[in-house]
Order: sequence, then structure tokens, then C-alpha cells
Amino acid sequence: MSAHIDWNSIESKWIERWEKQRIFESDPDSSREKYFVTVAYPYPNSPQHIGHGRTYTLADTHARYLRMKGYNVLFPMGFHYTGTPILGMSRRVSAGDPELMETFHTIYKLPDNVIATFVEPVKIASYFHHEIKSGMKEMGYSIDWRREFTTIDRVYSKFISWQFRTLQKKGLIVQGSHPVGWCPRDQNPVSQHDTVGDVEPDFNEYTVVKFKSSSSSNDGLVILPAATLRPETLFGVTNIWVNPEADYVEAQVDNQSWIISNEAARKLEFLNHKVEIIKRVKGSEIIGWNAANPLTNTSVPIYPATFVEPDSGTGVVMSVPAHAPYDYQALEALKSDEKIQQIFHISVDDDKIHPIKIIESEAYASGIPAAEAIQQAVEFTKNSSKDKNNDDGDKLLEKATSNLYSHEFYKGKMMQNTGRFAGMAVAVAKNEIKQDLLNSGWAEITYELVNKPVKCRCGAECVVKLLSDQWFLNYKDSEWKELAHRCLNNMDILPQEIRQEFDYVIDWLRERACARKSGLGTKLPWDKEWIIESLSDSVIYMAYYVIAKYINNRAISDENDNISDAFFDYVLLGRGSADQVARECKLAVHTVEQVRNEFSYFYPVDSRHSGRDLVPNHLTFFIFNHVAIFDKKNWPRQIVVNGSVLMEGKKMSKSLGNIIPLRAAIRQYGADTIRLAMLVSAEILQDADFSFDTVRGIRSKLVGIFEMVEKCRSRPPYQATVHEHDQQQQQRQQELLMLEDKWLVSRLHRTIAEASASMDRLRIREAIYYTLYSLDRDLQWYLKRVSARKRENITGMLTEFLNLQVRMLAPFAPFTAEEVWELMGNEQSITTAGWPVVEEEKIDLVAEESEFLIYSLLEDIQNIVKVTKITPTKIVIYASAAWKTQVYNRILTNILEGRINFGQIMKELIAKPETAKVKSDPKMVQKMIEDILSAPLEARNRRLKLTGFNEVTAIQDAQSLLSDEINKAEIAVYSEEDSRKYDPKSRAKSARPFKPAIYIE
Ligand SMILES: [Zn+2]
Repeated sequence: MSAHIDWNSIESKWIERWEKQRIFESDPDSSREKYFVTVAYPYPNSPQHIGHGRTYTLADTHARYLRMKGYNVLFPMGFHYTGTPILGMSRRVSAGDPELMETFHTIYKLPDNVIATFVEPVKIASYFHHEIKSGMKEMGYSIDWRREFTTIDRVYSKFISWQFRTLQKKGLIVQGSHPVGWCPRDQNPVSQHDTVGDVEPDFNEYTVVKFKSSSSSNDGLVILPAATLRPETLFGVTNIWVNPEADYVEAQVDNQSWIISNEAARKLEFLNHKVEIIKRVKGSEIIGWNAANPLTNTSVPIYPATFVEPDSGTGVVMSVPAHAPYDYQALEALKSDEKIQQIFHISVDDDKIHPIKIIESEAYASGIPAAEAIQQAVEFTKNSSKDKNNDDGDKLLEKATSNLYSHEFYKGKMMQNTGRFAGMAVAVAKNEIKQDLLNSGWAEITYELVNKPVKCRCGAECVVKLLSDQWFLNYKDSEWKELAHRCLNNMDILPQEIRQEFDYVIDWLRERACARKSGLGTKLPWDKEWIIESLSDSVIYMAYYVIAKYINNRAISDENDNISDAFFDYVLLGRGSADQVARECKLAVHTVEQVRNEFSYFYPVDSRHSGRDLVPNHLTFFIFNHVAIFDKKNWPRQIVVNGSVLMEGKKMSKSLGNIIPLRAAIRQYGADTIRLAMLVSAEILQDADFSFDTVRGIRSKLVGIFEMVEKCRSRPPYQATVHEHDQQQQQRQQELLMLEDKWLVSRLHRTIAEASASMDRLRIREAIYYTLYSLDRDLQWYLKRVSARKRENITGMLTEFLNLQVRMLAPFAPFTAEEVWELMGNEQSITTAGWPVVEEEKIDLVAEESEFLIYSLLEDIQNIVKVTKITPTKIVIYASAAWKTQVYNRILTNILEGRINFGQIMKELIAKPETAKVKSDPKMVQKMIEDILSAPLEARNRRLKLTGFNEVTAIQDAQSLLSDEINKAEIAVYSEEDSRKYDPKSRAKSARPFKPAIYIE
């Protein structure tokens, strides 16, 4: 059978049928509860590979599950043309970027004549739009394609203009000078979606303190500007460091003469300083000069240090050895290095220079804080790892620095030697000193990328730019933050552990540049030089899916230039009247009303799915913009965040050659296999590991399901439509069900309960485990039992099993589920069959306990046979006496209530006449306690509720199986209390409840 399954043709058949039957098209329906699932739309700038599929597959599985639960699910899709990603790609094509060409040719096998068209951004977008859409269909995504749009559609652009005017009216868009990540080549701000590797440029604010020196060869005054994160430590400066090997310049910066590194001169220009280079200076030339501390007016020497990086800060570093581990270490090294001192004609010794302690704190009280911090870091490293024999000193200093910095910042106090700041908390003094210096002109503010190098998609290295007259979304606004927090507090965040990351991002976000000078997109409505960037035009578009349907069905023309803000105000916010809007926008009144009603029906978004990398930007902006624009009742309800995909345990990358295009993978392995392989390897927040072992394992499970339906069909024609299903069940209930039948039905309903609970929390891996693996194990046991009994017609049971299993499988593996469902004689799509409902009365504790007993008994006997190497001809099994069950239940109750003290349990048992017999056999009580503690929790709970369970009956029921499995031996079963029992070795007395005694000959 397996060889004959043509997965791809099964897929095309169902894709076509779903489309024809419009199964995934959702319209308002007041009789059903709605559920609106959305997932971040793709940038169509490259083909999809396996790594792209996970978020969409999760969202689709979620949508399919809820649809089967009876919700009117809307799951739409759009395409994000705007912004720089597509533009960046077309530039790389124009430039003939060899890496890109290689990827297009060897991985995605794109023909040259197609690649040639990619110099035009829109050609790239429309080519990959088609490609991605086809892949989504082939993956079986249950998307309502009537709502598709692109972000360069005309009405979409009007929608974005409306969004921006609305935000501006609320005062949430500001113009000003703020630092941004910047591509010097494109002359554009950059954020995560503009950079190679999707890195968000992150920067720190530094205070540049101006030390003045007159030792310059020219007689004028020259400034040595040192960039620091800790201006409060200025009181402790003992010297200045420059790198003797680096290239410096003397430059006219604004109206002063500065000595700075080459790189710093370039960076200062982006921060709006006028920089004119006067001459080049080698670092070594500056060493030995003196410079005055602007705060204390003391003169400090300039010393050499190779740790000074010319491209970090200004290339000039102020040295605070008492509070900066790097400085402390460098100064100590210099003191003992006479050779260096000679080279630079300096003399550095303890008399001349020593650390000046200016901050006191509890943790670093005894000596020089920097020295203590280094010592503590050394000890910590020694204790925490053995193999880091000479793990570089740099890491150690880094750790000491960050420990000391944060401790002093939060807990430190300025000491007596800091003038008017004495006694002040460091956190306060830091700001005051900075402000004083800024006000008096002795400091400037500068910004530095923390995570450099950050590369733009065009290839250029990004810098921080102080952008003037730029437009910003003011995410710093505290009232706006407050609303965002309020929304978040009322949302479900899945998985829950990611919630605090959102809280953190909401607090941390500041002004964000929302417009660019280039790229595809909507012009800023009030300043047409600017184009709205791609992380700002993609935050409330879920609302647009409602409108897109009416544009695609031509009730609203995309060419309609009369559509104004009034339209969006009415349909999205309920402001104004339909009549007036219809007149103003030249639309039919009923269309306007329909759009409004549809929006009111489907909004808010019930669940938003996205990858984890979008938490710090898109997903948080999504919350911010919804709370700013929409009424509270339309704020989003849930966000689901997933991790990425690894390939055989490794990150996917071009260099590893492990990128598999999604559509090629579907052709080779089938969509369901890929869906399951993506979903089963991890719960949502972890990285999923796509492996070919998993693929093969899943494939064989799916083949097994097809084989099973064949088994059912080979019987006389069996018609099990949903409707008839009930009749059959009733009919079979009248038949005498065997123990294993009752057990299998019980297991099925228990599994439905478990899988549903997992799906409700989107613990999808767990749900697949129940549906595919746990049920399969049950089925194998059932078949073993049935075959031992030589039962022939079990088609009814198998069909019931398949009926439930396949419906549970449908959200994960829709093609297999549909095909098998049809093979079972059903005419309607499995989507309409519904998710199985737990029937509590079918859960049969006695049947479950019986099969559990038989299964463990078989295992015990097999173990004995193995250990004793007997070839058994006769096996005698003794079930324990009834009074022992009373003992067992007493102990079980004690244990379930948390009391496991042996002495107390014994005392209690002896006190009761019905269990007093244990007095003569305390060992048995001990063993029962062990039995209970080693039993699965599920079994412990079940046993307490168990009534009417008889071990002898259960074991007798499985005699044929036990005999079949063990050498065709004769099986005899007795109760311990049975006076006629065959018990030559007196084994019966050692029987315990759920632990029969065994005698083998
Ligand atoms: Zn660039």
C-alpha cells in the first residue's frame, strides 16, 4: 500500500476541492461565534524555505482546530510590499551580488530571465508573491483568499494615511531630533527589517567629557574628549588612555579643536557636528601630555593602552582605576612595565599615581572596588567551571565591570571627596554631574551602537545618526505606554513566559522614526517627502482584511479616489453615518453598512501569531497602535509567539547549505509530513528541529493510517457518515462488548480530553503525541488482544477508532485526514465533521485498570522467564485476597493525602479490625507503599475511584493473550482465598492488590 500513496496528487485534489467548496471563506454569521486568527504577512522578497513555514503552520493548525470546534474562523493573508526589504533585494540584484545570485541559482533554481527582471522592485514582489501564495496553498493553509491584498494597493495606502492622520491628531507623532540607526549609503534610517540578519540597531548614550590640554605642539588649547557611561566617576580620574598604535586626528569640531580617532571624526558628523580635519596625529605622539579634568581642574597625564579601541567612542578614554576594572588592570600593568615607560618617556609608580576611590558601597567596602570586583570575578569563575583554564581575561574584566557598575549605580553613594555631590546616591549624582557639564559646555552627548557591526541590506555598515526634522512615533509617551500595559494585562500571551518580555519592551520603547526617504510605500500625508516605513504601516492592517474583500469583489473600486478618512472613521471606529459616508465617498450605502457590520463582527483580533524575533518591534507596535486608534472593545485578545526552525539541530544558513525551499520539500516529502515534522519536534517557544528521521517516522505513521482504512474497507461495505455514526454506536452498544473494546473506547475518549486540553493551550507537540503516538500504541495493544482471542470482525471498532483519530489529526495533517475521511465513506469535508467530543460515560475505569493489570502482568512474567531462563509450560497466577484491598485503599488514601510515614500508617491499620491482620506482616505493608509510590499518578487516582474491579476476571479474560505471548504455556488463575487452588510453592500468600503472585513450572 505505502508505495502507492501519491501524496502530491492527494494534495492537489483537496486544494482544488476546498477552493471549489469555498470551505475556508468566512462571512459574518450571527448564529456562530467568530474567531479571527492572523499571522504576520510575508515580505515577498525571496522564496520560502522550511524555516518560514512554522509560524504559518502553527496559525493554520490553530485555525483548523477552532473551525472544527464550531467557531466561524477567519484566517486571511496579505503581502507586505512596502519598506526597504524588497528595494534592498532589487539593489543587490542590480549590483549582481554574487552571494544572492548563487542562492537564486543553486538553492531556488530560478531561471536567469526571471532574475533579470528583479532589478525592478515590483517585479520581485509580484514574482515571489505568487510563489509564496502557491506554497501556502500547497501546505494546506486554510486561508480565505478573497481577502488578499498588497500594501501598495491604492485603498490600502488611503487606509495607512488615515492611520497616520489619526495618530497625529492624537499628538502621538512628533517631529524632532532623535538618534536612529542609519545607513550612510541609502541615507535612510534602518531598523530590524532593513538589516542583514534582521538585527535591530541598538545604541547607548554616552557623555563626552572634554579634558583640555595645552601641551599640544601648536600653542592653542586642544580638547581630549573622553566618552563615558559613568560621568559621576570623573572625580576619580587619574589619567587618560590613548592607543599608541591608532591613528588620531586633530580636527575642528564645531568651534573647538579636538583630538579624536579617525573613526570618531566620521561618526561625529552623523551626530550633526561640523567636523574639519586639521591634521593626522599618531596615538604615540600624544602620550606624555597632560590634560585638565573639567570638574576638578586637576591635571592628569596621558598614558598608552592597547585596549583602547579607536572605533569605540572617541578613541580617548578617561581612566578611573578605583572603579573601572579595565583601568585598574591596565594601570597595574603599566607600573610594572619599565620598557614601555622608557619608550614613552614616562614614569609611572605608586608615588605618582594611585586609584582614587570616590564611591562607597556595601559589597565593595574594604579596598579598591575595581580590585575587589576583579578578585570576586576570578573566584566566581574558578568555582563555576573547571575547564576554563585560561578563559580570556577579557571576559573576566567584562564581568567585573558590569557587576561593579550595576552595584554602584543602584547601591552606591558619592564619598566626601566629591564636593557638593558628597552623600548623594550614584544614580542621582550621575545625572546631576552630566547636566552640570552639559550646561557649562564641558560635555556633549554622543551615541554608540552596542551591537555593531550592523549591516544594512544594501551592504553598508550602519551608524547612529542624530536625525533632525524627522518624524517619530512617540512610543515614549507615558499615557500611551499606560494604555499599552492595560491592553497587555487583559490579553492572553502564549506561551505565558513571554509576557514579561512584552512589559519590558513597552517600558523601554522610545521615539521611533516612522518615515524614510526611499522605499515603496505610502507618503506621509502632511509631508510628502517622507515615506512611511514598513514597521509602521503594518500594525493595524488586520482590520483591512474586512475592507479588502469588498475591493476584491468590486463593491468598492480600487480606483475610487473619493474614499476619504470619513470612510475609515465610520467602518472602523463607528463615527459618523453610513449615508453621509456613502455620499462623500461615492459608495452604495449598503456596501458601507456591510463593511461596518463585517468589521464589528470579526474584530477584535482573537489571536495574532508571529515569530519571537518580532516581540521587540512588530508585536509591541501592534498593541500600541491598536490602543491608540481603536475602542477598547476592539483591542487584540491574544498573541502567540513561536521559536524558529533548526535543520538537523543546526541553524539554517547558506554557508551550511542546509536551506531547503518549502515547495521543493512539499514535492519530495508531502505537505502533511512537513507540517507534522515542524510541529512535533518542540513546543511553540522552543526552536523546532526539522530532521529527516522525524520525517521518515511521521511518513510511516501516516502510511499506517491509510493501511488501517484499507483494513476497514476490505470488509463488507461500511458506511460511516457522521450522521450514521451515532446509529452504529447505539447498535454496537447493544452488542456484547469485549473487555478490550471497552478499554479502547475508554482510551479514545480519554485521549480526546487530553488532546483538547493541550490544543486549548496550544501545546501542539503534546496534542500530536496523544493523537498520533499514544493512540497508536493503544491500537497495537488492542490488536494483540484481539488476535489472541482469534476475533474476526472488529471493523466496527476499528472504524470508530479511525473516525475519532482522523478527526483529531485533521488540524495537523489536513490532506491525510480528508483523504482517509473520504475513503471511510464520508461525503463532506472533515472540517465540517467537528472536533470529537468527550463522552464521559465511555470512560471505563474497570476496563482501563484491567488492561493495565494484564499489560504489567505480562511484563512481569516475561521478566521472570528471562531471569530464570525457564521454558514455562504452566503459569499460575494468584490474585490477592479481598481484605488486602482494604489495606491497599487505606494506604493509598494516606499517600494521596501526603502522609507516607510507615509507622503511622501501620498504627492506623492495626487500629481498625478489618485491617488489623497486617500486624503479622509489616513487610507486606512496606511493599504496598512501594507499589503505590511507583505507580503512575493516573493509576493512583483511578484506583481510589475503582468499583467492581475483579483481578481474577480481568486476568482470565486475557488467558489466551498471556499464553500466546509466553511459549503457549498453560495459564491458571486463582484467588489467594480459593481453597482449591494449585499452589505447590505457597506463592499465593505473597499476592498484593494490582500485583498478583506468579508461579511458573
Ligand atoms: Zn543601506
